[in-house]
Amino acid sequence: MTSQEIRKRFLSFFEEKQHSIVPSAPMVIKDDPTLMFTNAGMNQFKEYFLGNKKPVAVRVTDSQKCLRVSGKHNDLEEVGKDTYHHTMFEMLGNWSFGDYFKKEAIAWAWELLTEEFGIDKDRLYVTFFEGASDDGLAEDGEARKLWKEIVPEDRIIPGSKKDNFWEMGDQGPCGPCSEIHIDIRSAEERSRISGRELVNKDHPQVVEIWNLVFMEFNRKADGSLEKLPARHVDTGMGFERLCMVLQGVQSNYDTDVFTPLIREIEAITNVPYGKEEKTDIAVRVIADHVRAVAFAIADGQLPSNTGAGYVIRRILRRAIRYGFTFLGTKEPFIYKLVDTLSNQMHQAFPEIRSQKNLVVNVIREEEQSFLKTLDQGLVLLDTIMVSARDNHISGAKAFELYDTYGFPIDLTALILGEKGYSLDTEGFEKELQKQKERSRAATSVTTGDWVVLAEDDEEEFVGYDILDTQVKITRYRAVKSKKDGEMYQVVFNLTPFYPEGGGQVGDKGYIEASNGDVVYIVDTKKENNLIIHLTRNLPRDPEATFRAVVDNNQRRRTSANHTATHLLHQALRKVLGEHVEQKGSMVHNDHLRFDFSHFSKVSPEELQAVEDFVNARIREQLPLEEKRNVPFQQAIDEGAMALFGEKYGDTVRAIRFGKSMELCGGTHVGNTADIWHFIITGESAVASGIRRIEAITLDAAKDYFTSQADTFRTVKNMLKNASDPIKAISTLQEENSTLRKQVESLLKDKAKNLKGELRNQLEEMNGVRFLATRIDLDAAAVKDLAFDLGREYQDLFIVFAAEQEGKALLTCYISKELAEARSLHAGQVVRELGKLIQGGGGGQAFFATAGGKNPGGIPQALEKARDFLK
Ligand code: ATP
Ligand code: MG
Repeated sequence: MTSQEIRKRFLSFFEEKQHSIVPSAPMVIKDDPTLMFTNAGMNQFKEYFLGNKKPVAVRVTDSQKCLRVSGKHNDLEEVGKDTYHHTMFEMLGNWSFGDYFKKEAIAWAWELLTEEFGIDKDRLYVTFFEGASDDGLAEDGEARKLWKEIVPEDRIIPGSKKDNFWEMGDQGPCGPCSEIHIDIRSAEERSRISGRELVNKDHPQVVEIWNLVFMEFNRKADGSLEKLPARHVDTGMGFERLCMVLQGVQSNYDTDVFTPLIREIEAITNVPYGKEEKTDIAVRVIADHVRAVAFAIADGQLPSNTGAGYVIRRILRRAIRYGFTFLGTKEPFIYKLVDTLSNQMHQAFPEIRSQKNLVVNVIREEEQSFLKTLDQGLVLLDTIMVSARDNHISGAKAFELYDTYGFPIDLTALILGEKGYSLDTEGFEKELQKQKERSRAATSVTTGDWVVLAEDDEEEFVGYDILDTQVKITRYRAVKSKKDGEMYQVVFNLTPFYPEGGGQVGDKGYIEASNGDVVYIVDTKKENNLIIHLTRNLPRDPEATFRAVVDNNQRRRTSANHTATHLLHQALRKVLGEHVEQKGSMVHNDHLRFDFSHFSKVSPEELQAVEDFVNARIREQLPLEEKRNVPFQQAIDEGAMALFGEKYGDTVRAIRFGKSMELCGGTHVGNTADIWHFIITGESAVASGIRRIEAITLDAAKDYFTSQADTFRTVKNMLKNASDPIKAISTLQEENSTLRKQVESLLKDKAKNLKGELRNQLEEMNGVRFLATRIDLDAAAVKDLAFDLGREYQDLFIVFAAEQEGKALLTCYISKELAEARSLHAGQVVRELGKLIQGGGGGQAFFATAGGKNPGGIPQALEKARDFLK
């Protein structure tokens, strides 16, 4: 059975049991501060469990892209070393939202594995939760009993909280779970040690394949458990592990999910897989990591220096490093694997094909720049080794290499080892720890539990139509962070405040109670489907009714910028081509930023055409046409531009201005005329294949024109109110260049005359042509004169003194032949004479200069020059 078929059969099995098949949610998470990436199938359904949102269907099945590289579930360091953990993997799941519970979940899981897929029952073991006294939880007798009905007792194993109580993170929905493990060892090995002994013992051939979680609780900030409003089923089966079992191989990497990638790596590097452990690990790391990185980029997460982007960059760098160290790859090559990956996966995940160009370009560029870093690091490491004492490298030095230059510590250790140097790893760890603590202290946030004032299942957003309305507070909590100090998050029953999202900043404003008590809303955000208003303090009576007022000025400007980004998007596709896709945007109240895919710089002519296009739409006064609560698919069918990041069950809002139609939750103007005018202020590159345009509208555009007009008025004034300032300026420029030419030729004449005069002043002194005189020209002109004269005679001794801007300059020139014959040195001369002008200097034997701050000393210096020839 191919992996394609396995995935399909899983989904149809549950479809037959009345489950709706839904697509995977994006792997990159945008609106949950506690989670950067989807780490389990249940993430996208969290709100259903918590009761914050109503599910569209109560039974659902899917294959979810997961990434376990940060936070509570982090398998990164295992990946490649073992055969069954990946960074990115697919989790097959079936879900019940308050519908069926343990009985069906257990029976169906068993049916699927043993009947549908025909797995040998003798190879399977199941576990149940044994209870935990610290949480006051008894053993899961129900699950145990249900298993007993279908599985012999010696295959049912109790498990501790660590293995059998599933939690997404430190807070959130959780519950006891029951796992299914499989033993794929040979008959001989199985007869020697029973599989039962190896369950949950990290044996590579006795692994967990499926986890059935029975969601019943919510873990609160203080660590306590609270019952959820309903009971749910959340199951997760590792797709790649299932393929390993069904394809009869001993490693996930020997399934058809990975073999095409591995063949490709072998072909590129000429290193065979399956011959040596060290290179095998490297091959597995690369085959695994390219998937994680490619899917993250396709989901809109570019590698960067912070947050989720940094995690992706680190994964890619880990792959590059393994290639560099163990497979000898010194040139970018990982990007070449994307083609194979896309061919293999696009049926289940079409984004990997539609985003292929971008993915390839971004990975190639990252590879290039990190390989350069590695090269520089190697050079630096060499210099560190050269200056090391006793062949020992301190932890601090290694840390500097790691922290400042991004040079990986394991590579440092490896190279040092090979060259016979020792490394203070403990010292390095200490430095690393110190740094971690610094950054933890800077970003740590403590969140209190919600204080619930009123139960409310949906907080309605009314801010598309209303900016001023009556609200009640339904819940609030305190949050403390180093950055912002103590703040409150406040939730209303309904709200006119737009929460930051879709690139648009959150609304500001205030709430006011009838007793005059005012609390300012400093920002609005969306977290887990709740609209959260940030305040510095709480109202005196939180249970009062408040008038909630959005700052209309900011809202108006922000909306104008948001509509302008849609028109800009349309314009770019018109002017540059249909390959242009939005890759991010930032809509502020004073400017906007739009990132999009395009492979070269946008020329000034193209920018002008884009600007003109947008302004033409503004002049057309196109009204906003808006459709709310459209099912996602319907909107796409009607021709709306899809953005990444939509999830199953989302209903969307379609926004149309003339021919521009996009899905968008943001706020917009009622008519494009309200944008007033659109001005592009910048164009630049963000990453390979991604350009950024910055622009302004409305008040910012007005301010821009006002300041331009101001400047122009000033210029005109300076031109004595010339009726045609452009002509006046070019006349000035012409005059200026004529004058410059005249001055140059006059100066040349003057120098010629001066040379003639100086020649006449040369006096004979002890067989030397001597001249010491003052010429007030700048240093370069003085030097030219000295050299000019020098070309004519072989027995010159000249000292020139000049005064420029209050400073004195002495220049001495001695013909080379003379300097040699009489052991004279111009440098010595100016040093000596320099004392008289309170300065110093030096130079060569035949030419030297000295500067000083006392021009009053010049006559004396000139007089003393004679002494050198006496
Ligand atoms: P393990 O103990 O093997 O790490 P887990 O307890 O972390 O597994 P769950 O969180 O219960 O796993 O996830 C559900 C299923 O997803 C597992 O039964 C397993 O088949 C699969 N799975 C978990 N982590 C990975 C991973 N890093 N790579 C591939 N599959 C995984
Ligand atoms: Mg795990």
